[in-house]
Amino acid sequence: VSRRGIRGNFVPPIKSNGSNTGNMTSRIAGNKSGDSLDESTKKCLEMLYGPDGELPEKLRNLEPRLIEHVSNEIMDKDPNVHWDDIAGLGHAKRCVSEMVILPLQRPDLFMGCRSPGRGLLLFGPPGTGKTMVGKAIAGEAKATFFYISSSSLTSKWIGEGEKLVRALFGVASCRQPAVIFVDEIDSLLSQRKSDGEHEASRRLKTQFLIEMEGFDGGNDQILLIGATNRPQELDEAARRRLTKRLYIPLPSSEARAWIARSLLEKDGLFNLSNEEMDVICNLTDGYSGSDMKNLVKDASMGPLREKIRQGVNIVELKKEDMRPVTLQDFKDSLHEVRPSVSPDELGTYEQWNKKFGSMS
Ligand code: ADP
Repeated sequence: VSRRGIRGNFVPPIKSNGSNTGNMTSRIAGNKSGDSLDESTKKCLEMLYGPDGELPEKLRNLEPRLIEHVSNEIMDKDPNVHWDDIAGLGHAKRCVSEMVILPLQRPDLFMGCRSPGRGLLLFGPPGTGKTMVGKAIAGEAKATFFYISSSSLTSKWIGEGEKLVRALFGVASCRQPAVIFVDEIDSLLSQRKSDGEHEASRRLKTQFLIEMEGFDGGNDQILLIGATNRPQELDEAARRRLTKRLYIPLPSSEARAWIARSLLEKDGLFNLSNEEMDVICNLTDGYSGSDMKNLVKDASMGPLREKIRQGVNIVELKKEDMRPVTLQDFKDSLHEVRPSVSPDELGTYEQWNKKFGSMS
């Protein structure tokens, strides 16, 4: 909700009647020592005030420092990834457009029978672009993007994870349309035996499912995207809420070529023939997108390493004296940068996709 008036001028959070913002903020946020809130916390809270000059209901009993953490650390104001930045994954892009982007843009058309699922699972090997897809969805739908990894919830926020989850969903509901991206969602919603399950993580999981239930079926324009490399660890409750489940596989050979080419071109280092690119593609079967990125990084060091071997003083080296990256640089780097996903793992994803995937 914007805090700006009709002419675009900032509307103070509290009508000027002599009371100070700190006191009001503290009353609203249920924090008795509100005067001690620092400026950045006050600023975050002010951004979230409704048109009535009050914090929305959902945020009232939350600790201001958690709201601030969500606003400053988890909310990404400019994810800056577009479909065109992502190699391959045409099927995922098409599916996501219909399922997520159009409904976020035209909620009126997607009601009743057409009402979309509010939970999307992206599964597949690490480094294949799941996070990029999440960011691109937010960008294309002009939605606010929230990124959290389950491991930070379970390790960094021990004992406070539940409160942080409430703050996350609370702030997202004030920033609609919103995309909440939960990385490694399996560690949050895993299929563990209930007696062996740690009490705190069980509570966290319950809180998370409650929050998801809260916006599913309602009018909120919030999409939850879970990403995982271990879909088989998700339990039935989690699968039920993540209604669309898209397999994000390893890049095809065209997609690998595209990634290598675009990274080198960006730095003005691309000078390989089509035949040489074909060789690189053949030699990189099984590499993920992020493996390709690491390979390009290593290969692009080739010309520099050569100069060092020749005893050139790098501090005085002129940029124009460097040769472009060659096929041999790639061949040398292939020994250093190995694929990170094993063929057995791929079999597991494919099986899970057949059983539970949306586009098998
Ligand atoms: P994941 O979330 O699946 O683990 P990421 O989206 O974080 O993977 O990707 C890691 C990096 O690898 C990206 O920043 C990007 O540089 C590269 N990458 C991975 N997949 C792709 C892709 N399909 N297209 C372009 N770059 C990719």
